[in-house]
Amino acid sequence: MGLNTVLFGSPGVGKGTYTQILRDIYSLPHISTGDLFRDNIKNNTKLGIKAKKYMDKGELVPDEITTNMLKERLENDDAEDGFFLDGFPRTLPQAKELDKITKIDAVINYIADDEVIINRLSGRRICRNCGYIFHVKNVPPKKEGICDKCRGKLYQRDDDKPEAIKERLEEYRKKTKPVLDFYNKKGIVHQIDANKDINDPEAHIIEDTQEALEKLMNEEGE
Ligand code: AMP
Repeated sequence: MGLNTVLFGSPGVGKGTYTQILRDIYSLPHISTGDLFRDNIKNNTKLGIKAKKYMDKGELVPDEITTNMLKERLENDDAEDGFFLDGFPRTLPQAKELDKITKIDAVINYIADDEVIINRLSGRRICRNCGYIFHVKNVPPKKEGICDKCRGKLYQRDDDKPEAIKERLEEYRKKTKPVLDFYNKKGIVHQIDANKDINDPEAHIIEDTQEALEKLMNEEGE
């Protein structure tokens, strides 16, 4: 059976970090529209040049550009048995378009307080080579500035700097939160408390996510 899952929550709540663990547990692809845009920017494509203007300011890229890019990605064979969608949909029109392309089985909504989110965004560091996500305090690399996985160099995203952070959180409140109502009406949202850091022994963010997904898989299998 397929498991089409949307990871939902504010920028900085940790969606990318959780998904990079979940994708290995379930052997399903991690599809992040932010990563797809960043790859396009790195490769200097037309799409990347267009998207960069918005991303640098912390604004959302227009729906049509984003949705077309995602549609193309979902056509890859690796997404046939399911996927973890990270950072999409972020507006109501995106959610409605996604509904036309495929059926979403679960939406995992991660929740954390504002101060936790701002701390996570400002401490985030990413591998320039493989995209793995670290945090200077919560998920530190073994060697400062160097990726544990591939030895690539770590960098800080331009939009993880204070001005863009403010704008991204505004965009989330105004445009992305309403998407939750859309999925709530379908009864497929699972809330998960993501306040504790992932390496805190008392955090069970991944376990809670697995529990929600496994319950769903059992129900579907019945
Ligand atoms: P992320 O890596 O998910 O934080 O995304 C980084 C930036 O990419 C966002 O601030 C937006 O500018 C853009 N972006 C990513 N996903 C979307 C989306 N679904 N709709 C519009 N813009 C997006």
